[in-house]
Amino acid sequence: DAEIVLLGRSNVGKSTLMREITGHDFTTGGKPGVTRQPNHYDWASESFVITDLPGFGFMSGVEEEHRESIKTDIVHYVEEHADAILAGVIVLDGKAAVDIIDRHSGEEEIPHTVELYGFLRELRISPVLAVNKMDKIDDRDERLNDIADRFGLVPPWEQWRDTIAPISAKRGDTDALEEAIRVHLEDAKRDDLK
Ligand code: GDP
Repeated sequence: DAEIVLLGRSNVGKSTLMREITGHDFTTGGKPGVTRQPNHYDWASESFVITDLPGFGFMSGVEEEHRESIKTDIVHYVEEHADAILAGVIVLDGKAAVDIIDRHSGEEEIPHTVELYGFLRELRISPVLAVNKMDKIDDRDERLNDIADRFGLVPPWEQWRDTIAPISAKRGDTDALEEAIRVHLEDAKRDDLK
């Protein structure tokens, strides 16, 4: 089965998105950053497996050491399953993502999400940026262009619909993500036929 991994900082809306696309009522429970085993779900009519991996990045009340071990777990999981992983969905909070990235960009620092994006590409896993909470955003195109730019994707963002998927998990508006993933699924099928 093609596997899809869902990644992202705490509080970006991963559980809400999981619930929306799987139909499972799925509660994270517990504190942010508590390592959860990857959860497997089938997605709609496709025999996808969606694997939710714990949040990363800033987690209040979580020790630095424990944060690092969560990151290491994620990296190991993705590396081990790279051959089976069709797409790596990085969920972003559309309202906060650019500020967070800019705050962590410097000579010696790469923001976690940008690092993760590069890591997926190195493993030849298609990264998809699920830009969530679009319902809170007024300047939609401007915001999406800024996000594209931060990931090295030349604006306008509309050129990157297989990589940038504006969604609102809470409102059940996840079409753009399903569409982006469908493109990667079809690419993978085509590659198999070669
Ligand atoms: P997780 O930590 O990444 O699993 O995030 P959750 O799914 O628990 O969501 C964190 C918070 O963001 C909750 O209060 C959600 O209701 C809210 N949230 C999730 N998706 C959306 C969305 O599309 N729009 C808005 N406005 N809020 C959302």
